[in-house]
Amino acid sequence: MTAQLIDGVALSRQIRAEVAQRAAALTARGRKPGLAVILVGDDPASAVYVRNKVKACEEHGLHSVLEKYDASLPEAELLARIAALNNDPGIHGILVQMPLPKHINPQKVIEAISTHKDVDGYSVLSAGETMTGLPGFRPCTPYGCMKLIESTGVPIKGKHAVVIGRSNTVGKPMALLLLQANATVTVCHSATADIGRFTREADIVVVAVGRRNVLTADMVKPGAVVVDVGMNRNDEGKLCGDVDFAGVKEVAGWITPVPGGVGPMTITMLLVNTVEAAERM
Ligand code: NAP
Repeated sequence: MTAQLIDGVALSRQIRAEVAQRAAALTARGRKPGLAVILVGDDPASAVYVRNKVKACEEHGLHSVLEKYDASLPEAELLARIAALNNDPGIHGILVQMPLPKHINPQKVIEAISTHKDVDGYSVLSAGETMTGLPGFRPCTPYGCMKLIESTGVPIKGKHAVVIGRSNTVGKPMALLLLQANATVTVCHSATADIGRFTREADIVVVAVGRRNVLTADMVKPGAVVVDVGMNRNDEGKLCGDVDFAGVKEVAGWITPVPGGVGPMTITMLLVNTVEAAERM
């Protein structure tokens, strides 16, 4: 069997076209959606991420502000900047790029962002909204994974879903979103003995670990939907995921590639959350 590809680039393009329409409608009403992106320090990977986020805003009719600060920025000054953006009517979403320099407490910074503007969905309140199913902002990566799974047309209700990884930003919210969609959910992590025991029973597997070959063909139920969140480098230095793609695609029914699967969806869902924030205000 050869799995069908779940094309994150094509799905992103479709969702981004809808985002652009919603942004244009808001702009016509005098409320152009605005995203503020804050970068502290000079981490090269973070610089690329924020550039891509700002570029995506510009390409889809959103207003964006990129604020760059030296790594020595005092925590109090960052908090004051966030407070000012919380009160800025032209800004509907605020994103502080992680990681932050060691002298800044990341949770304190996240909690300083107004809940109405927490488009990353990382605050404790947003996490609670995700857990309880209340309206709010879902973290962009798991939110994008849900869209990818839904795009297959495979019903989630009643299925067994396994999430490998339990980070606060990906694994845990992913499990909650699948649970909310009426899957029966198992979460595996670094202390799980014999992960294959669980994944072999799974109709849906989402892998978010950050290590190559966490999921191999012998661990997958024939026909399963496999979503690969991981971003790693292979021996040739090329981007690859956590899934042994060559092997697993022969067993799974559906699979996301890396690159071109989850990656483009993360920024897409950030745009969706920002437009939604502007629509709610
Ligand atoms: P993270 O915070 O490091 O969490 C990794 C999780 O994997 C932890 O829960 C850890 O378990 C678990 N784990 C580690 N080794 C394991 C093993 N051998 N078997 C099973 N579980 C294991 O990472 P993250 O932020 O969730 O990100 C995960 C991956 O997704 C990374 O490669 C990251 O770059 C990628 N990512 C991609 C996107 C995108 O847009 N494409 C977005 C976010 C993240 P413990 O909790 O027990 O330590």
